[in-house]
Amino acid sequence: MKITFPHFGHTGVALETLFSKYGVECIVPPQSNKRTLSLGVKYSPEGICLPYKVLLGNMIEGLELGADTVIDVGGPGLCRLGYYAKLHESVLRNMGFDFQMLVFDWQEQGIISLARFIRDLIAPHTPWRQVIADIRFGLFGQLVLMDELEKRVHWVRAREVDKGAASAIWRTAPGRVAAARDAASLKKVRQDLFAELDALPRNDEARPLKVALLGEFFVAIDPFSNMDLEEELGKRGVEVNRAAYLMNWAKAWLFLEAVGLGHGHKVKRAANPYLKRDVSGDAMQSVGEIILHHKEDYDGIVHVLPFTCLPEIVAQNVFPKVTHDYQIPVLSLIFDEQMGRAGFLTRIEAFVDLMERRRWQRAS
Ligand code: SF4
Repeated sequence: MKITFPHFGHTGVALETLFSKYGVECIVPPQSNKRTLSLGVKYSPEGICLPYKVLLGNMIEGLELGADTVIDVGGPGLCRLGYYAKLHESVLRNMGFDFQMLVFDWQEQGIISLARFIRDLIAPHTPWRQVIADIRFGLFGQLVLMDELEKRVHWVRAREVDKGAASAIWRTAPGRVAAARDAASLKKVRQDLFAELDALPRNDEARPLKVALLGEFFVAIDPFSNMDLEEELGKRGVEVNRAAYLMNWAKAWLFLEAVGLGHGHKVKRAANPYLKRDVSGDAMQSVGEIILHHKEDYDGIVHVLPFTCLPEIVAQNVFPKVTHDYQIPVLSLIFDEQMGRAGFLTRIEAFVDLMERRRWQRAS
């Protein structure tokens, strides 16, 4: 069996380690690039959202490299995510690929379907306890570490003296974390990476602008889809606090939300005066997080959404009222394959100027 999976946040780090423990070959597609996107666009229905196209492009590249099994994501059917997997599978079969498809529906079965897959198809004689421990290591060891490192990188980037130094270390993280096969080696990787980041020369007197990044989940966490937005803001001395992280989200959905203790309940309460019902996707989060971040005294909000993403378009229509009531600037960036880099950078620079002026006006 040769497994491939699209790049969905850093899940590939954990999946690569997990499958290699069971002797299964992983075909990791190249990091998303122009070719990935043009393949995705070429074989996608017109007008479908950007995440669908990027994920399809990843799968095509994985299958071209010889994979015979594809892992895809599924989800609740309110927006297009509900039919991503079925459509991906039918497009890939029409292209002539021969493969088996494994879909993780995070709301229906979540992690259980991954455990079942390993037990039933890969390692039938491995005790359940071992399978669960291996999955736990990937989720709560490797992926939690990737989230923690990324948050630290955002903090350091806004203060570093040599611009780009934190990003250079961050680029080595996925490979180093994926190579850690047990708790002891993961601990060592954690210590090394944090020590390298902390050793970078930085300006501790700086009071960087603080921006909250929110919006559609995939575009928010995928640097290829959002044109390295966080790095570009960091280069301009802006500290980014992203609302969505893979493991925060997984922990919330798998455990805390179920018992009413998750951050999602706070977000819903905050959004309620403006958006009464869940319109699917991350719209409720986008509206609620603006209000919560305003209370934490952020300088601005960057809202990202794929072109034609209905839930975020609904959120965007609520924003004028929210931003009027809370007096916080919001920059909405819409991403698709037509987005040009020059225009994107100009808009970021103008927004940074606006936030600086606002801070100065408030101080005086
Ligand atoms: S939330 Fe938007 S971008 Fe994401 S799958 Fe749904 S429609 Fe597409």
